[in-house]
Amino acid sequence: MSLSACNQTTNKQSTNMTDSTTVGQLPAASGFEKTIDGKQTKLYILKNTKGVQLAITNYGGRMVSLLVPDKAGKMIDVVAGPGSVENYEAAKGNYYGALIGRYGNRIGGAKFTLEGKEYKLPANNGPNTLHGGKEGFDIKVWDAKQVDDHTLELSYVSADDEQGFPGTLKTTVTYKLTDDNAVEIYYAATTDKTTVVNLTSHTYYNLNGNGSGSILKHTLQLDADGFTPVDKTLIPTGKIDKVENTPFDFRKPSTIGSRIAEGDEQLKFGQGYDHNFVLNKHDLKTPIATVQGDNTGIVMEIFTEEPGIQFYSGNFMKGEFKFKGDIKDDNRTALALETQHFPDSPNKPAFPSTTLKPGQTYKTTTIYKFSAK
Ligand code: BGC
Repeated sequence: MSLSACNQTTNKQSTNMTDSTTVGQLPAASGFEKTIDGKQTKLYILKNTKGVQLAITNYGGRMVSLLVPDKAGKMIDVVAGPGSVENYEAAKGNYYGALIGRYGNRIGGAKFTLEGKEYKLPANNGPNTLHGGKEGFDIKVWDAKQVDDHTLELSYVSADDEQGFPGTLKTTVTYKLTDDNAVEIYYAATTDKTTVVNLTSHTYYNLNGNGSGSILKHTLQLDADGFTPVDKTLIPTGKIDKVENTPFDFRKPSTIGSRIAEGDEQLKFGQGYDHNFVLNKHDLKTPIATVQGDNTGIVMEIFTEEPGIQFYSGNFMKGEFKFKGDIKDDNRTALALETQHFPDSPNKPAFPSTTLKPGQTYKTTTIYKFSAK
């Protein structure tokens, strides 16, 4: 369907025409041209030799669209989310597609102590700090350098004390689209004072395609014997529980919806899955997570150097905001799988450390690889 035909057949009020993206196409670049804090935002396109395309905006370093072939060879946009800067701004608290910093997920009580000094952060999620605070890396305009057709380098310098975190953090995130249909994300950071850092990608996926309804029939496999249970404000208790005999056991492929409505206290706290899984010993050669869309057969495998992954089943999506194709972000129409160090690690000495010192380089890689069957 052409853009104009699409607009003619919809009765919904459209406040932003640039979001009327046709299935299998990238959104219009014009919806990404804006000046924020004196900096220019833009849409960057990466391509590979298989016809796969990845669109990224330097507004929050967001993955906007990823067109990959389904089992019939049709190109499907597996990234669910808005199609213009304006609609990303409106949906700020959902972090659609964004790079998250300085600290992915929650820090309890909006504070932590490092080398004997207490640091106070803005609380933006009940009493806690979520995804870097009120003004995280998701709303920053990153400097962008398109190195070649398949590589985009983004950088952002976070000033000392920004959102209460110590140290000037120089951050670089490189997106690379490979010819074997993988999106590789390389994160790097340095600091001039001891600090904490935990960067991730908050891309929401629907492997049946953006706007194709619920993700509850997607199958998920996670190579995790344990997860970190949380309190009712979603802060880890500090324990690591076994997934065995719980709805958190995804060691064998299981549909996301099959146990999500069970009366489990942890599922009640998250209103569904919103938990950090403790990954079994792994390296970058073996996937730690595999997801498949039930309609398209598209498979996404995740490889990472991180010790954990947040599986968020889109529970707090409420159909308030606009996605590409002029559809709403209805409840559980996308999922996020965010590789990470564990939430609240700065306050949990037994968890793997998120401390970064001057002279050290934070370096971590995560790969999302796509195929279909
Ligand atoms: C968090 C959720 C939150 C979502 C969107 C996830 O990483 O764990 O609780 O609602 O991000 O902000």
